[in-house]
Amino acid sequence: MRNEMELIFDAVSDNEGFARMAVAAFITNLNPTLEEMADIKTAVSEAVTNSIIHGYENLYGYGKSGSTRAGQEIHQGKVRVHCMLENEVLHIEITDTGKGIENVEQAMEPLFTTRPDLERSGMGFAFMEAFMDELEVDSVPGKGTTVRMAK
Ligand code: ATP
Ligand code: MG
Repeated sequence: MRNEMELIFDAVSDNEGFARMAVAAFITNLNPTLEEMADIKTAVSEAVTNSIIHGYENLYGYGKSGSTRAGQEIHQGKVRVHCMLENEVLHIEITDTGKGIENVEQAMEPLFTTRPDLERSGMGFAFMEAFMDELEVDSVPGKGTTVRMAK
């Protein structure tokens, strides 16, 4: 069986839950275990949140007082979530056209964060790596980031 879907939505925190639930609904027919479902939802949520708050530095709804221009949507952009189901394997691609990552290897290290001011813990990529079978990050500074995962 092969099945494909694509979502494109505004990079605002309200849409993080939407993206997570949409991917969950998309894979329901596969009868995933509760654990598989939870793992995939967490991974999607981490990647989408990263695009919103790091890629576009859109801190609305995430910002703490003290963050740059808290409460303001600094940079409006889109996040794309592409899912492909093939032979019971789910391939997910999450793309933004935000600021990109200077050093991907360093960014992927557990506990590394560029935003301790937002009380981020630097565990997003570590969770994606732990919860999915495959994780690949492509990023070009100034152009954007694509996270590819499979399970
Ligand atoms: P946490 O996910 O635990 O809240 P975090 O987001 O800082 O904290 P990771 O998700 O592991 O931790 O990301 C590590 C770092 O990689 C981020 O601090 C940020 O600098 C960079 N990064 C991740 N995703 C993106 C992205 N889409 N665009 C630009 N930078 C990113
Ligand atoms: Mg993160």
